[in-house]
Amino acid sequence: MTTLSERETLELYEKTGALMRGHFRLTSGLHSDIYLQSALVLQYPEHAARLGEALAAPYTDARAQTVLAPAIGGILIAHEVARALGVRALFTEREDGAMRLRRGFTLTPGERCLVVEDVITTGGSTREVVECVRASGGSVIGVGTLIDRSGGTAAFDVKRASLATVSASTWPPEACPLCKSGGHAIKPGSRV
Ligand SMILES: [Zn+2]
Repeated sequence: MTTLSERETLELYEKTGALMRGHFRLTSGLHSDIYLQSALVLQYPEHAARLGEALAAPYTDARAQTVLAPAIGGILIAHEVARALGVRALFTEREDGAMRLRRGFTLTPGERCLVVEDVITTGGSTREVVECVRASGGSVIGVGTLIDRSGGTAAFDVKRASLATVSASTWPPEACPLCKSGGHAIKPGSRV
């Protein structure tokens, strides 16, 4: 099974525009020095397959039976990790605010599940998937993410793996040092 170094992972992200450094206005309104959009690297099946295989590598001996991720952002990566491990891929969806297994997806009691996500920031949605697996009778054997931008704060009681760590700063516009030094924040994906 092939692996990817942190540099190779970031190169894939950078060459597809999935990771940009500069001065950005995020959808949340905050300004940031990093723009991260995994969909831009995962739109290329060959990159998605390489990333999935590399993220699966630390778990080859973990006897995972199922890979799960939160929809929509995690679906492709769960699929590719599951392909590499030869197991099935499920996704969770939010229903009435709670993360759930829908569409007839079920887990058998004690089923060994690997939870994956493209980017982990606070770990909030990943933790919700972990809780959803446990509430559905499954057992979580690991949490894997392509990119860790949590600054090491997203901790779990299971085996954690990430292909790369990225540190990003965010500020409200009025406190943004890049604006203070005269820069103009761009909104990625817009034509302005
Ligand atoms: Zn700014």
